[in-house]
Amino acid sequence: MQQVTVLGATGSIGVSTLDVIRRHPDKYSVFAVTANSRVDELYQQCVEFQPVYAVVASASQAQALQSRCVQQGLQTEVLNGEEGLCQAAKAPEVDVVMAAIVGAAGLEPTLAAVSAGKKVLLANKESLVMAGALFIDCVRRAGATLLPIDSEHNAMFQCLPVTHGNGLSNVGVRKLLLTGSGGPFRTLPLDQFDAVTPEQACAHPNWSMGQKISVDSATMMNKGLELIEACWLFDTTPEQIDVVIHKQSIIHSLVQYSDGTTLAQMGNPDMRTPIAYGLAWPERITAGVDDLDLVQIAQLDFEAPDEHRFPCLRLAREAFIAGGTAPAILNAANEIAVEAFLHRRASFSDIARINETVLNKLEVWEPKDLGVVQKADALARQTALSLL
Ligand code: NAD
Ligand code: MG
Repeated sequence: MQQVTVLGATGSIGVSTLDVIRRHPDKYSVFAVTANSRVDELYQQCVEFQPVYAVVASASQAQALQSRCVQQGLQTEVLNGEEGLCQAAKAPEVDVVMAAIVGAAGLEPTLAAVSAGKKVLLANKESLVMAGALFIDCVRRAGATLLPIDSEHNAMFQCLPVTHGNGLSNVGVRKLLLTGSGGPFRTLPLDQFDAVTPEQACAHPNWSMGQKISVDSATMMNKGLELIEACWLFDTTPEQIDVVIHKQSIIHSLVQYSDGTTLAQMGNPDMRTPIAYGLAWPERITAGVDDLDLVQIAQLDFEAPDEHRFPCLRLAREAFIAGGTAPAILNAANEIAVEAFLHRRASFSDIARINETVLNKLEVWEPKDLGVVQKADALARQTALSLL
């Protein structure tokens, strides 16, 4: 029986993770669930899964939830804050940690799981983007198992051979093809970008996701973050990764080999597939996802990305090449810009403008420890806020 901590249990990925776990009560038991604000949903999860810990943001929320749990006769202990998240992530009883908090808030708890040598299912791409070198170093040192849950990276992982640390070119890999749907504004004329509303930006054509990643998909910053994520996960450079727009989201990414072979991983766009793959790896379990019906799909389309319309993709590539704290700066600026857009304090096109201005304005530092990364993150947030 594997004990699983689900960080960000009330989110889109968290709920899908619990749905897969629910189908396999003989294999997985929920050790901890965590949430930021949706305490009612978290309480329902406690009733159903009876975890050892539940974690909420504040002490007062924790007290209220604890009383409800006691009234219900549950043994669940309620913790709070970052300390509580880290405790749930690194507890000795835990085998698997699903890292599904959104944004920089996920960095410390995810690193706590990695440092404790857990099997970490990584959905929280922002943590790897912010602190890639430190993160990967920590994985190696602690002997943690890092499995990508982002559908594209999960697809590449499924199509890649074992490299034994030899680098992709040494095992015959020529290119990674990172697919993206192009988001809801793939064909929207550029002069209409300023009028885009948060509701339109969050209505993704293929995937149902949290608000932040939905906006990132619409600006294609998500593809940029994924480009950086792939570089760290697979120890490669942006030159070895081509972004391909594939509007149906049926192929989740591909690997091209030197002999002319291209392997693709396909499936319906449902995050329960990569989640189940991560949970059961190297085995396979059912995920509740329908089989792919190729005849019904009938057609798969591909096109090149348009970096003129979607500059965030270019910015991410530039930030990775600049190295150091540049990706952390870009990520932090983007989190502030997206939040402002969602609250109608910035326009859709402002997001890319703010990201570019902050990235160009701030000095890049050598990320010798987490403190430096957090300082860069804080400064970038401040700078982005001042632009608003
Ligand atoms: P979401 O907004 O639906 O859920 C986020 C979760 O994080 C919630 O449980 C929330 O309570 C928690 N959270 C938010 N802020 C927090 C804070 N400050 N402290 C503690 N917890 C906090 O987001 P999501 O769509 O599930 O995405 C989660 C992560 O997975 C993101 O990093 C995203 O990029 C990544 N991801 C998501 C998808 C998807 O299909 N949704 C696909 C690939 C990758
Ligand atoms: Mg993805």
